[in-house]
Amino acid sequence: MAFSLLALASCGKAPQRETPWIVDRFDDIKVIRYEVPGFAELPLEEKKLVYYLAEAAKCGRDILFDQNCAVNLPVRRTLEVVYENYAGDRTTEEWKALEKYLKKVWFANGIHHHYSNDKFTPEFSEVFLLEAIESIPEEKFGELNALREAVCVAIFDPKAYPTRLNQRDGDDLLLTSYSNYYHGVRQAEAEKFYADMAAAAGNDPEPISYGLNSQLVKDEKGRIYERTWKIGGMYSPAIERIVYWLEKAQEVAAEPQKSTIAALVEYYKTGDLKRFDDYNIRWVKDTVSNVDFVNGFIEDYGDPLGRKASWEANVNFMDKAACHRTEVISENAQWFEDNSPVAPEYKKAKVKGVSAKVITVAMLGGDCYPATPIGINLPNADWIRKEYGSKSVTIDNITYAYDKAAHGNGFDEEFVLRAEDRERMDQYGKLADDLHTDLHECLGHGSGQLAPGVKGGELKSYGSTLEEARADLFGLYYLGDPKMVELGLVPSFDVAKAGYAHYIMNGLMTQLARIEPGKNVEESHMRNRKLIAEWCYERGKEDNVIEWVEENGKTYVVVNDFEKLRALFGEMLREVQRIKSEGDYEAGRALVEQYAVAVDPALHQEVRERYYALGIEPYGGFVNPEYEVVEKDGEIVDVKVVYPANYVEQMLDYSKNYSFLPNVN
Ligand code: ZN
Repeated sequence: MAFSLLALASCGKAPQRETPWIVDRFDDIKVIRYEVPGFAELPLEEKKLVYYLAEAAKCGRDILFDQNCAVNLPVRRTLEVVYENYAGDRTTEEWKALEKYLKKVWFANGIHHHYSNDKFTPEFSEVFLLEAIESIPEEKFGELNALREAVCVAIFDPKAYPTRLNQRDGDDLLLTSYSNYYHGVRQAEAEKFYADMAAAAGNDPEPISYGLNSQLVKDEKGRIYERTWKIGGMYSPAIERIVYWLEKAQEVAAEPQKSTIAALVEYYKTGDLKRFDDYNIRWVKDTVSNVDFVNGFIEDYGDPLGRKASWEANVNFMDKAACHRTEVISENAQWFEDNSPVAPEYKKAKVKGVSAKVITVAMLGGDCYPATPIGINLPNADWIRKEYGSKSVTIDNITYAYDKAAHGNGFDEEFVLRAEDRERMDQYGKLADDLHTDLHECLGHGSGQLAPGVKGGELKSYGSTLEEARADLFGLYYLGDPKMVELGLVPSFDVAKAGYAHYIMNGLMTQLARIEPGKNVEESHMRNRKLIAEWCYERGKEDNVIEWVEENGKTYVVVNDFEKLRALFGEMLREVQRIKSEGDYEAGRALVEQYAVAVDPALHQEVRERYYALGIEPYGGFVNPEYEVVEKDGEIVDVKVVYPANYVEQMLDYSKNYSFLPNVN
């Protein structure tokens, strides 16, 4: 599971004048830099390990582009050749529109918006692009010449590849989603293919994650088969480079990490998902290594059936001073499980191995770059989580950078009606956010258990929304628990008040700024927040727990009764856990469809107008630092971290030096 930023923009004190944190802005995006405090103090062996893992993290970028849509690599490369070779006027509106479009493609790792999944609409013409292409020597384009028409269709025809991920109830979700996980396969065929596979394995208590690392296609006779992502399989040229750097990392790593990396390499070489489980078990058991990483096909949010995983990477090391908070939460994991409002039969009798730490990220890659989660809880396989627990991290240098970039942007003044709420958000907003993230990641996802016979995939396309809701509700419920004060994690209930007011405002209202006009809510984290906020509004109506207020022609939402709201979070947690535990698809579907999807057009328009008037971009992402090796007599004697602040240069550098796949895969 990945946890993304709760807030559209966090609360701000006075802006600080220092090196700018925002390095680029375009469309609805701001690109921020992040720092890696503590890197210079790491021992040399750990610096080398970070360096090798960071190289491995950069080598899978093309995989994600291709996974997101089959035309993404030719589109990106064609535009890059134009961008680097165009000798015409670079001050015209059309050129600027082309540049913006390319920046968006880089950011989204493809032609679809990273959050809404909708295809970008170009603001330059096909004629302009073709003239630009013709002004550049043909040989610069190489094999791309043969793909020009396909590239133009992809960019300019609104009917081609309209969305990356369609989750509309009733549609064939595979034929209407234009990610590259399935090719010519219908939803019912894919579901049967994997149901048969699971059935053939019998009642395996340790099921592999069927379909996680492959594309599903048909041969000429119409038979369905998997193209596995491994060395010698699909995406081999990129995976070979990833493995090259992982093997370097393996050389400098200490046990038990050395064996963990070896297990990952073995999995990349064989594509065998049993090996992936073996790697995950080693990885989750290793809570001692200071440097840690994620590298592989991990999260399934991009697949409408929730099976195929996008490639991602992240390299990090422990922020020991900041770990106290999550240690306290972890140490009390059993207390939280025992005292939750969940039905007794769906609680874990024994919560195992909840490890939690605060980390400093050193490199982001694949589906974590440039937009990144701020918390991660892995592995995803239910049976491994049950048997071995999970590792949960919150990424402090990223939230710190977000916070810095948002200071003084006017958001709270515009949307928070009551001064007392603004003051509480100012004082406790970051702590409430951090703590909620910790609770969501350390305890929320790992809590609860399934009824006997329930496997975990029953909720299908509603599964990720309900899973995020479950973890969020666990966090919200406990954020306001007196236990938090008792454990010394918060000074008072005011922290919960700050978090609750913000969560409800975001879920009911301000997150709508991210939705395109005329669209409904699609993304599962956003659906989850809307689901919770709308459900609590509805259930608390009689007691006026949450209230819509009109003032000076503007709409606001306020929380009147924080204690009752907390009780509602508890009730809802109980129900969402029941749905997951029993695999109650119909109830889950009804909940999501009723509360999480439909947008009120008038409110939507108002929120967008007020939000965009502030000039804040609703999405953020990051440029990576770079690591420079210092050598003496052929030996690495140091690794230095430097902070480039140019988004375009970094993207072009990655496309030149970390691009290993052919145009068509
Ligand atoms: Zn989550």
